[in-house]
Amino acid sequence: ARRADSGGIVVIGLGRFGCHLAGSLTRMNREVLAIDRSPEKVQRWSAQLDRVVQADATEEGALRQLGITGFGRAVVAIGASVEASVLTVLALVELGVPQIWARATSQKHAKILASVGAHHVIFPEAETGDRVAHLIVSRLLDFI
Ligand code: ATP
Repeated sequence: ARRADSGGIVVIGLGRFGCHLAGSLTRMNREVLAIDRSPEKVQRWSAQLDRVVQADATEEGALRQLGITGFGRAVVAIGASVEASVLTVLALVELGVPQIWARATSQKHAKILASVGAHHVIFPEAETGDRVAHLIVSRLLDFI
Protein backbone atom coordinates (compact mmCIF):
# COMPACT_ATOMS: atom_id res chain seq x y z
CA ALA A 1 0.00 0.00 0.00
CA ARG A 2 1.16 3.50 -0.82
CA ARG A 3 1.94 5.81 2.06
CA ALA A 4 -0.65 8.44 2.97
CA ASP A 5 0.69 11.82 1.93
CA SER A 6 -0.62 15.20 0.91
CA GLY A 7 -1.14 13.91 -2.65
CA GLY A 8 -3.74 11.45 -1.40
CA ILE A 9 -7.47 12.08 -1.68
CA VAL A 10 -10.18 10.87 0.69
CA VAL A 11 -13.55 10.13 -0.91
CA ILE A 12 -16.43 9.85 1.54
CA GLY A 13 -19.69 8.24 0.41
CA LEU A 14 -19.69 5.64 -2.36
CA GLY A 15 -23.03 6.38 -3.97
CA ARG A 16 -23.34 6.81 -7.74
CA PHE A 17 -21.27 10.00 -7.70
CA GLY A 18 -18.66 8.98 -5.12
CA CYS A 19 -17.86 5.61 -6.66
CA HIS A 20 -17.20 7.17 -10.08
CA LEU A 21 -15.07 9.87 -8.52
CA ALA A 22 -13.01 7.36 -6.54
CA GLY A 23 -12.64 5.12 -9.60
CA SER A 24 -11.48 7.98 -11.84
CA LEU A 25 -8.94 9.21 -9.29
CA THR A 26 -7.62 5.65 -8.91
CA ARG A 27 -7.20 5.34 -12.69
CA MET A 28 -5.35 8.68 -12.56
CA ASN A 29 -2.88 6.95 -10.19
CA ARG A 30 -3.89 8.98 -7.15
CA GLU A 31 -3.82 7.46 -3.73
CA VAL A 32 -7.48 7.16 -2.75
CA LEU A 33 -8.91 6.32 0.63
CA ALA A 34 -12.62 5.60 0.18
CA ILE A 35 -14.96 5.60 3.16
CA ASP A 36 -18.56 4.49 3.44
CA ARG A 37 -20.63 3.61 6.47
CA SER A 38 -22.37 0.77 4.64
CA PRO A 39 -20.56 -2.59 4.88
CA GLU A 40 -22.27 -3.65 1.63
CA LYS A 41 -20.85 -0.64 -0.24
CA VAL A 42 -17.38 -1.31 1.20
CA GLN A 43 -17.60 -4.94 0.12
CA ARG A 44 -18.87 -3.98 -3.32
CA TRP A 45 -16.02 -1.55 -4.12
CA SER A 46 -13.12 -3.27 -2.38
CA ALA A 47 -12.00 -5.07 -5.56
CA GLN A 48 -11.89 -1.91 -7.72
CA LEU A 49 -10.41 0.54 -5.22
CA ASP A 50 -7.11 0.28 -3.34
CA ARG A 51 -8.38 1.23 0.11
CA VAL A 52 -12.03 1.10 1.08
CA VAL A 53 -12.96 1.25 4.73
CA GLN A 54 -16.21 1.14 6.66
CA ALA A 55 -16.71 4.10 8.99
CA ASP A 56 -19.25 6.75 9.95
CA ALA A 57 -17.56 9.87 8.60
CA THR A 58 -19.51 12.14 10.94
CA GLU A 59 -17.34 10.74 13.76
CA GLU A 60 -14.21 12.85 14.01
CA GLY A 61 -12.46 10.19 16.10
CA ALA A 62 -13.08 7.52 13.48
CA LEU A 63 -11.63 9.76 10.75
CA ARG A 64 -8.60 10.53 12.90
CA GLN A 65 -7.98 6.82 13.45
CA LEU A 66 -8.01 6.28 9.69
CA GLY A 67 -5.14 8.77 9.35
CA ILE A 68 -7.17 11.43 7.56
CA THR A 69 -4.89 14.16 8.88
CA GLY A 70 -2.21 12.91 6.48
CA PHE A 71 -4.32 13.70 3.42
CA GLY A 72 -4.29 16.98 1.56
CA ARG A 73 -7.76 16.70 0.07
CA ALA A 74 -11.11 15.20 0.95
CA VAL A 75 -14.34 15.03 -1.05
CA VAL A 76 -17.63 14.60 0.78
CA ALA A 77 -19.77 12.84 -1.81
CA ILE A 78 -22.72 12.16 0.49
CA GLY A 79 -25.85 13.65 -1.10
CA ALA A 80 -29.14 12.59 0.38
CA SER A 81 -28.44 13.32 4.04
CA VAL A 82 -27.71 17.01 4.56
CA GLU A 83 -27.02 16.31 8.23
CA ALA A 84 -24.43 13.60 7.48
CA SER A 85 -22.74 15.75 4.84
CA VAL A 86 -22.56 18.84 7.06
CA LEU A 87 -21.30 16.91 10.10
CA THR A 88 -18.68 15.19 7.95
CA VAL A 89 -17.42 18.52 6.59
CA LEU A 90 -17.32 19.84 10.15
CA ALA A 91 -15.22 16.84 11.28
CA LEU A 92 -12.80 17.37 8.36
CA VAL A 93 -12.50 21.07 9.26
CA GLU A 94 -11.79 20.15 12.89
CA LEU A 95 -9.09 17.75 11.71
CA GLY A 96 -7.52 20.50 9.59
CA VAL A 97 -7.80 18.86 6.15
CA PRO A 98 -6.41 21.58 3.84
CA GLN A 99 -8.80 21.21 0.89
CA ILE A 100 -12.36 20.09 1.52
CA TRP A 101 -14.67 19.54 -1.45
CA ALA A 102 -18.33 18.97 -0.66
CA ARG A 103 -21.31 17.97 -2.76
CA ALA A 104 -24.47 20.02 -2.35
CA THR A 105 -27.96 18.98 -3.39
CA SER A 106 -29.55 22.43 -3.01
CA GLN A 107 -28.55 26.09 -2.66
CA LYS A 108 -29.36 26.02 1.06
CA HIS A 109 -27.26 22.92 1.52
CA ALA A 110 -24.42 24.70 -0.32
CA LYS A 111 -24.70 27.71 1.99
CA ILE A 112 -24.40 25.55 5.08
CA LEU A 113 -21.43 23.62 3.65
CA ALA A 114 -19.60 26.85 2.86
CA SER A 115 -20.38 28.35 6.26
CA VAL A 116 -19.01 25.35 8.17
CA GLY A 117 -15.80 25.56 6.18
CA ALA A 118 -15.98 23.61 2.90
CA HIS A 119 -13.46 25.13 0.47
CA HIS A 120 -15.21 24.00 -2.72
CA VAL A 121 -18.91 23.26 -3.09
CA ILE A 122 -19.97 21.23 -6.11
CA PHE A 123 -23.34 20.38 -7.68
CA PRO A 124 -22.73 17.24 -9.77
CA GLU A 125 -26.28 16.90 -11.07
CA ALA A 126 -26.63 20.60 -11.96
CA GLU A 127 -23.16 20.73 -13.54
CA THR A 128 -23.79 17.63 -15.62
CA GLY A 129 -27.19 18.95 -16.69
CA ASP A 130 -25.62 22.25 -17.82
CA ARG A 131 -22.82 20.46 -19.66
CA VAL A 132 -25.15 18.10 -21.47
CA ALA A 133 -27.43 21.01 -22.43
CA HIS A 134 -24.47 22.79 -24.02
CA LEU A 135 -23.37 19.60 -25.72
CA ILE A 136 -26.80 19.00 -27.19
CA VAL A 137 -27.15 22.57 -28.44
CA SER A 138 -23.68 22.61 -29.97
CA ARG A 139 -24.32 19.27 -31.68
CA LEU A 140 -27.66 20.53 -32.99
CA LEU A 141 -25.85 23.43 -34.66
CA ASP A 142 -23.94 20.86 -36.73
CA PHE A 143 -27.17 19.93 -38.48
CA ILE A 144 -28.64 23.39 -39.09
P1 ATP B 1 -25.62 9.24 -5.21
O1 ATP B 1 -26.55 10.15 -5.97
O2 ATP B 1 -24.17 9.59 -5.37
O3 ATP B 1 -25.90 7.79 -5.42
P2 ATP B 1 -27.27 9.42 -2.99
O4 ATP B 1 -27.69 10.80 -2.65
O5 ATP B 1 -28.23 8.55 -3.74
O6 ATP B 1 -25.88 9.50 -3.70
P3 ATP B 1 -26.51 9.16 -0.33
O7 ATP B 1 -27.59 8.78 0.62
O8 ATP B 1 -26.05 10.53 -0.39
O9 ATP B 1 -26.92 8.60 -1.75
O10 ATP B 1 -25.30 8.22 0.03
C1 ATP B 1 -24.14 8.18 -0.70
C2 ATP B 1 -23.23 7.24 0.04
O11 ATP B 1 -22.80 7.88 1.24
C3 ATP B 1 -23.93 5.95 0.45
O12 ATP B 1 -23.17 4.84 -0.01
C4 ATP B 1 -23.97 6.01 1.98
O13 ATP B 1 -23.80 4.74 2.59
C5 ATP B 1 -22.81 6.95 2.29
N1 ATP B 1 -22.95 7.64 3.57
C6 ATP B 1 -24.05 8.29 4.03
N2 ATP B 1 -23.82 8.78 5.25
C7 ATP B 1 -22.55 8.44 5.60
C8 ATP B 1 -21.73 8.64 6.75
N3 ATP B 1 -22.17 9.31 7.82
N4 ATP B 1 -20.46 8.16 6.74
C9 ATP B 1 -20.01 7.48 5.66
N5 ATP B 1 -20.73 7.25 4.56
C10 ATP B 1 -21.99 7.71 4.52
